[in-house]
Amino acid sequence: MNVEKMMNALEAKHPGEVEYLQAVHEVLESIEEIYNANPQFESAGIIERLVEPDRILTFKVPWVDDNGKVHVNLGYRVQFNGAIGPYKGGLRFHPSVNLSILKFLGFEQIFKNSLTSLPLGGGKGGSDFDAKGKSDTEIMRFCQSFMMELWRLIGPDTDVPAGDIGVGGREIGFLYGMYKKLAREHTGVLTGKGLNWGGSLIRPEATGFGAVYFAKEMLATKGESFEGKKVALSGFGNVAWGAAIKVNELGGKVVTISGPDGYIYDEEGISGDKIEYLLELRASNQDIVKPYSYEFPNAKFYAGKRPWEVAVDVAIPCATQNELGKEDAETLVKNGCMAIAEGANMPCTPEAVEVIHDNKLLFAPGKAANAGGVATSGLEMSQNSLKFSWSREEVDEKLHTIMVNIHKACVEHGKDAEGYVDYVKGANIAGFLKVANAMLDQGVL
Ligand code: NDP
Repeated sequence: MNVEKMMNALEAKHPGEVEYLQAVHEVLESIEEIYNANPQFESAGIIERLVEPDRILTFKVPWVDDNGKVHVNLGYRVQFNGAIGPYKGGLRFHPSVNLSILKFLGFEQIFKNSLTSLPLGGGKGGSDFDAKGKSDTEIMRFCQSFMMELWRLIGPDTDVPAGDIGVGGREIGFLYGMYKKLAREHTGVLTGKGLNWGGSLIRPEATGFGAVYFAKEMLATKGESFEGKKVALSGFGNVAWGAAIKVNELGGKVVTISGPDGYIYDEEGISGDKIEYLLELRASNQDIVKPYSYEFPNAKFYAGKRPWEVAVDVAIPCATQNELGKEDAETLVKNGCMAIAEGANMPCTPEAVEVIHDNKLLFAPGKAANAGGVATSGLEMSQNSLKFSWSREEVDEKLHTIMVNIHKACVEHGKDAEGYVDYVKGANIAGFLKVANAMLDQGVL
């Protein structure tokens, strides 16, 4: 494999798909050496087959608002690779959604799911629907219309979607309700379900918990822990919420959260009642960052800025892709940050990652650090198959073990001669090998 040639060919075939090309480039660079050392991959055309999705469904999603006005959004499902199990990956509802973003997320998902050690293939889907300001009934009608198309493609043993940005417990409920009606079956076709109808304990907080467990393992390689550490989070959605709870539990102090309009710095720490208050704001579909500074006047709101200018020991970006750039990384390094764990998918730009690596910080890429979400979705699928549910402690313990093992796999494949661990390389190689070997076993498909 020649990475440059491969990228040129892909750019010609998929012009303008910036996020997808960025994600593929990162993986190809990491696996180039091991790929070329194993000629069986080249002769089976593994990489040419891996970079193209198995199939993509696009569809229109018509729905009627509370005033009787008709709207049409676009819906997608990208089934990327099913070599090691049913397609698995979230649905994202956000106005920025397009095919490039979903292909990048679906591609990343292949390796992430492989790292969990569970039998899960990679996929992703979503819509350019904007839930902000919509009533519950509008969201319900949209979800029902979305599922009227999607249901044909998914099933508990073929493709099991979950939540992502803009898709939480409420949306999964509406989607599941419509699937159940159309398919006439009560199965584990979606994960992130309510606890009363097949959901798993810990699933909502699992991605954030997992990211913090992974960061804890990284810190331990330097003889450090979260005790007394200042931590910057971005966003305050599902992932940041779980991360905030776990950082507090492990003795750290969360000092920032953010939204698209700016960030909050709360020197006293964001925990307990403050987290409950944020959850109330989130449930009411409001902006959450600014109101926090009215409710807790010691906290400061910095309009139009990102939290990476605050001096912290650990940064966990949990909002969205490319939210931490080169200058942000330089500021974090200058301020003495020792570890960065990606709670979101690809929040650090390639330039930022270069700065972080050059300065030998501990750096966990999303496909390793945020794999706890999909891993717990895998555990939800197992519980659904068994028609059984595990306790909170059992799920948390399994999640913790999975994160420790992902960390081990990254170290095994990412440690260089001087002992520095390139977790990006480690995660890509470990995730790739399992999928590539499964593809070899199964023939050219
Ligand atoms: P949510 O929609 O629950 O939360 C996203 C948060 O980020 C919101 O607080 C949102 O604010 C904020 N936000 C959005 N855009 C920006 C921006 N440009 N700058 C600052 N803040 C912003 O999503 P999740 O927490 O579920 O997902 C977050 C990330 O984690 C995504 O990259 C997702 O792919 C990834 N992820 C999620 C998993 C999960 O289990 N949920 C699993 C693995 C990865 P507002 O609401 O005001 O727009």
